[in-house]
Order: sequence, then structure tokens, then C-alpha cells
Amino acid sequence: MALPRGARSPYIVDITPLKRQPGKQRPFDATLAPPDGVALETAEVRATELRFDLQLEVAGEELIAQGVIDIGWRGPCRRCLEDQDGATTVEVQEIFQKAPIEGETYPLDEDQVDLEPMVREVVLLNMPVAPLCRVDCPGPDPDRFPTSVVPDPEPDDAAQPPADPRWAALAELTFDDT
Ligand SMILES: [Zn+2]
Repeated sequence: MALPRGARSPYIVDITPLKRQPGKQRPFDATLAPPDGVALETAEVRATELRFDLQLEVAGEELIAQGVIDIGWRGPCRRCLEDQDGATTVEVQEIFQKAPIEGETYPLDEDQVDLEPMVREVVLLNMPVAPLCRVDCPGPDPDRFPTSVVPDPEPDDAAQPPADPRWAALAELTFDDT
């Protein structure tokens, strides 16, 4: 859900108290809706709820965020296509810097840090690409997903070796009798 105009993102944290006490950890524990658009489009898996249990700490010119993110997600089982709810727990240790290194660290402002780019990346990298509702999921229920999903098996006749013409004549007689 988009934030109302002017509202502060819940992922933006004021770091001035941390800068006054370098080395002191400050918790970031919250349960939040995922940032907009956090979904794996190919697999239709999307994050539903994120639970953070992080510690933020200023060390020198950097901010370190470490702890655990629980990613709640929902997406279709890759075999039976039923929507599944699941959770994935990820341990993170990320560094935020004024001059971030592309692909390694995240940006840090003078007085605040926006955790959202890190959260977005961690979530997208750790959601299951192809969930299974259970390891022995048998696949689509033929009663509910008929021929549109599962092709009809070959008729039995086609799977058998060509009939001996002598028996074919007999089979025909039998067929005509019924
Ligand atoms: Zn399934």
C-alpha cells in the first residue's frame, strides 16, 4: 500500500542517536508490510508480511544492520497451483555507507538510513522461486483441473504393439458382438 503523501516510510530510521553513541546497538524490531512491488513476477510469489529483529549500530562512517528478517510470503504451489502461505527466515549483516559500493553496501544519509533498498533485495533473493505445498504434492487434482492442465493419456490401443492381423480380425468380431 502506498504511503499517504508526506508520510514517513517505516523503513527510514533516524540515526542521530546512534551517531552520538558509536558502538551502541539500537533495535529495529517491527512487523511491516513489504515495500511496494516486492514480488517474483515469474513465479507469482509475493511477500505478505516482514518481521524484523535487527540491531543497528554506527561504526566509524558506517552503519551496520544485523539480525533476522522473517519473510512471510504467498504463492502458488508449482505442482498443484494451490496458493501456499510460507515463511522464510534470513540472517542479514549489511553495511550502509555514504559512498556505497555497488552490489555490496547500501547508501547512508547524514542523519538517517533508508532500510528499504536492502529489505527489497534481501526479500527478492530469499523468497522461494517455485514453492511446493508439500514434498509429495501429487500435482493437479484431475477432478478440478481436467484436460486443460493434464493432457489426456494416450488411448490404450495406441500403446500396444501393432496387432497381429489374425487377432485383429478376431478383435473385430468380438467388438461387433457387444
Ligand atoms: Zn501442491
